[in-house]
Amino acid sequence: MNSVDITTVKSILSQPKKIAIIPHRNPDGDAMGSCLALSGFLKAKGHTVHVVAPNDYPKFLKWMPGNDVVINFERENPKAKEVINEASVIFTLDFNDLSRVGQMESVLQEAEADFIMIDHHQQPSDYAKVTYSDVTMSSTCEMVFNFIDSLGETDLIDADMATNLYTGIMTDTGSFKYRSTSSKTHRVVAELIDKGADNMEIHREVFDTNSPSRLHLLGIALSNMVILPEYRTAYITLSQDELDQYGFKKGDTEGFVNYGLTLEGIIFALIFIENREEGIIKISFRSVGDFSVNEFAREHFNGGGHTNAAGGRSEMSMEETISKFNAILKNYKDKLNT
Ligand code: 5GP
Ligand code: MN
Repeated sequence: MNSVDITTVKSILSQPKKIAIIPHRNPDGDAMGSCLALSGFLKAKGHTVHVVAPNDYPKFLKWMPGNDVVINFERENPKAKEVINEASVIFTLDFNDLSRVGQMESVLQEAEADFIMIDHHQQPSDYAKVTYSDVTMSSTCEMVFNFIDSLGETDLIDADMATNLYTGIMTDTGSFKYRSTSSKTHRVVAELIDKGADNMEIHREVFDTNSPSRLHLLGIALSNMVILPEYRTAYITLSQDELDQYGFKKGDTEGFVNYGLTLEGIIFALIFIENREEGIIKISFRSVGDFSVNEFAREHFNGGGHTNAAGGRSEMSMEETISKFNAILKNYKDKLNT
């Protein structure tokens, strides 16, 4: 954050305020971790704070400190609207455009609060009074740590906040292995452990609580994988019928997309997951190296994200979506082979 923004934030937060903190739709570990940690920090500073999630999030995040008081916009709509309308400050965390909150978008657009964005996704939109955007950052959680550091208040980070921040850094870096993981990331993580984050326990809570449905679906996903060596690409499909067969629950397919990248020579991996209720195919894109899945998702599948991890969607059937994808892929043969 630059010094002008730091001064602006200090002035906005100099009096007790009503504050709403918003993660993106289908919040992940980084979105929830950053919101919950920032909430703890702002409460410690005497503000009235609510985290309002656009919709539900997976069970493997429901142990996170403070998650029990998160307001779900879909389930507790009147309360969520009231909190947003009464807020004089709204933090939006881990997303770069108001369209990323789904149905909540119009409510945020009408809100009169001062917006503060903290985010590491590419091409941030210009809607906030303060935009703290840094696409080189491992995670929004690392940025929230830096945000608190810029205010000179890391002393206020307690064990719960440290746990939430650690969780988001861990999940967004693939357990500290993606390229965005810097020595600075590790220094922040070390400090979080010193402040009470139990690294082993957090890892266990997030990764070692598989359900039978998840493991069965992983089996289906891996057997559905299509490998296209000439495009250095591998993709997985999961239909709604397959999800239903094993009692799919939110979060069950988290991380499946990464298996494609563990194949030698594969640099582009995707998973297409049917969501009949929403009438869409949700797509996750991953890459290694310079091939930008952010641009691919943005250009062809109404999405975006980072260079090596992005999301998007298709409103066509699975079959049509795969045909479209295969046709598009032909134009990327050279790019994928350089
Ligand atoms: P995932 O594939 O895990 O859903 O998302 C990968 C990354 O892309 C995350 O950083 C996520 O925030 C971002 N992302 C996922 N879906 C979308 C989308 O529909 N639009 C945009 N702009 N970003 C997305
Ligand atoms: Mn993130």
